[in-house]
Amino acid sequence: MAELRLTKVTPTQRYGNRILNGKPDFHRGVDFAFGRGVPVSVMGDGVIIESGFHRVYGHYVKAEHEPGVCTSYHALDAAGLPVGTRVKMGDTIGVAGSSALGSTGPHSHQGLWLHGETRDLLAYLKPGVIVTVGAPAVRPPAGSTTVPARAVQIALVARGYNVVVDGVYGPQTAAVVRLFQRTLGLVVDGVVGPQTWAKLRVVEDRLRGRQTIRAVQAGLGTKVDENPGPVTDALALKKYGFALSKATPAQILDLQRRANAGTL
Ligand SMILES: [Zn+2]
Repeated sequence: MAELRLTKVTPTQRYGNRILNGKPDFHRGVDFAFGRGVPVSVMGDGVIIESGFHRVYGHYVKAEHEPGVCTSYHALDAAGLPVGTRVKMGDTIGVAGSSALGSTGPHSHQGLWLHGETRDLLAYLKPGVIVTVGAPAVRPPAGSTTVPARAVQIALVARGYNVVVDGVYGPQTAAVVRLFQRTLGLVVDGVVGPQTWAKLRVVEDRLRGRQTIRAVQAGLGTKVDENPGPVTDALALKKYGFALSKATPAQILDLQRRANAGTL
């Protein structure tokens, strides 16, 4: 649960349908009147997870307060705090400006995100009052019958992430999935649906590359060092019937398929 506090009272443009540049548009935040250069404060404790210039948002930052609970601040006058900065409720994250697309004057656009979806800030928060906002508990991966937790964990290790391969989709695995999603610019919800799995799964290509070696070592429960040495070979021989260093292209492909099926 994250504690958030909104500072401004009167919105100049609410969340929802609007007309932008003469076209129907959905406003995914709430605008508040701010003079140019006036500090914009963050609604809760957390860490800056996005910061930069966006074609529509203008200069913006996004803060994560707990997994699944984020707030964003658009239309800043200049770059805000950099990614990775830890913030406390009320800290200044940037100063107000007019850099958002279609902006008609200095303001502060503020948004609330729960599991990657925008919500109406004013439906949750009251100005000046600390409100506890909780994202729904981490859901099991969508289509978990086709993407077993073990497959997700092995694929994460194969791609260089640090996660325990225990076949249980718990908070630790979900946190690493969110990190992966954030790195790839996917919807950050900790859920392995079709889009995330398309990017995460072990590539099936008959080559004994770095990713495949890591996947096999994760599957064997041995040290993941990308070096298919005697220990890995002996374990692979016992479990799969052949040494990894002597695997044929067809056998490599089979290992990759097993990794993605969660049976490696
Ligand atoms: Zn706005």
